Amino acid sequence: MAKPAVTDKKGQKPAGRLYIKTYGCQMNEYDSEKLAAILEGSHRLVDTPEEADLILINTCSVREKPQHKLFSLLGELKPLKNKNRDLLIGVGGCVAQQEGENIVKRSPVVDFVFGTHNLSLVPSLVEARKNGSPPQVAIDYRDEWEELPLGFSGAERVSVFVSISRGCNKNCSYCIVPVTRGKEVSRDINEIVREVKLAAYRGAREVVLLGQTVNSYGLDLKPRMRFAELLNKVSEVDGIERIRFTSPHPQEVRDDFIDLVADNPKICRHIHMPLQSGSDRILKAMNRNYRRRRYLAIIDALKERVPDIAITTDIIVGFPGETRQDFEETLDIMRRVQFDNSYSFVFSPRPGTPAASMDDPDPYELKLERLKELQELQREITAGRLSAWLGKEVEVLIDGVSTSDKNKLQGRTSQNILVNLNQQTPELEPGCFIKARVTECSRYTLRADFVELIEAVQSKRPPAANLQF
Ligand code: SF4
Repeated sequence: MAKPAVTDKKGQKPAGRLYIKTYGCQMNEYDSEKLAAILEGSHRLVDTPEEADLILINTCSVREKPQHKLFSLLGELKPLKNKNRDLLIGVGGCVAQQEGENIVKRSPVVDFVFGTHNLSLVPSLVEARKNGSPPQVAIDYRDEWEELPLGFSGAERVSVFVSISRGCNKNCSYCIVPVTRGKEVSRDINEIVREVKLAAYRGAREVVLLGQTVNSYGLDLKPRMRFAELLNKVSEVDGIERIRFTSPHPQEVRDDFIDLVADNPKICRHIHMPLQSGSDRILKAMNRNYRRRRYLAIIDALKERVPDIAITTDIIVGFPGETRQDFEETLDIMRRVQFDNSYSFVFSPRPGTPAASMDDPDPYELKLERLKELQELQREITAGRLSAWLGKEVEVLIDGVSTSDKNKLQGRTSQNILVNLNQQTPELEPGCFIKARVTECSRYTLRADFVELIEAVQSKRPPAANLQF
């Protein structure tokens, strides 16, 4: 069984100074948190690379020119390395997984490379390099769940990520993830629940379950397990009042999942379900194993069962061969669903994926025009969706100070909408649940008046005895 992360003893700050640069998705953020926890006994986190004696770069290869980004950052770090001969630099994440040895061949400042399944090896890679070994490369696909510490290092936080699976079996034709993260491997349910309990013990009120396709969780386990069963287990953890997850895949949505979202009050009223395209022809070319009818049927069922649900999505514009008609079908589905928000990008070919070698005659400018058109439509829809909250009372989980005014607090609704409070509220602190009345909406956020405290911070924190490690 994995052990909880080692915590500093009072007055004994670790001597090492660790700086982590994270690119990409929430999974990478989670991995960076694990790296900090793995090294917690020997290194404390610092805010700038200049202060560090160990720099870890956690790379992402989902978008364009990731290698370019990495090597330009390594170029910027070269003067630091020249100045401090003890400084070690390690490169991890998806680019590391793909490029492996090429990285150390191309950049002499890199001391070691670690793949997406080799986080737990970082301390030994550091030691080997300190002891004079040549630059190290560790990129084997290993099942390292058991070797990772539970939880995260550093200060308490209201919302934490908990990974439930790694890798993906879907093979969408544009996506490099199955190469960089390997086959889908589900994490043991008891480990997940322990990590959630530990998070609750350390003050978290919300967990965000992470996986490439969260709702295929457990299909590789023996005996098989369903995602809905995992959600039920997690919702039994005292102190955790909100559960989010990202991202479900339309192909794996079952009725028991929709029932659970509707019936379990801890499951947030927000689903982020990638659409990618509204055209069946393009969905087929993308190897997305659902069609628009199925996607719309899921949305209809969710909206019928959970009328206040927020739906967000991902969309790729300008996939090879996308015609105006295909694009219109995407706009049409956006109008029908009324997404609360969407993350949209122009298609970016990833070397080594089937889509990268597809015939793609359309110029980038045309694709960019389409993207702008789609984003304009999304802005209109988002504005309409947000303005529907005006005058209503919402439940907000306070998560910190407002970025626009350091004297006021902010939080999120169950629909994952950011709410800035109008008043200074010294009686509140992160981790409280409050009722607030919406007074204003801006492009992506709401402003609201504090109405009343629903639940204070400490009232449900579970006792340490409940952790049962
Ligand atoms: S479902 Fe498709 S897009 Fe998502 S990670 Fe898997 S292969 Fe990539």
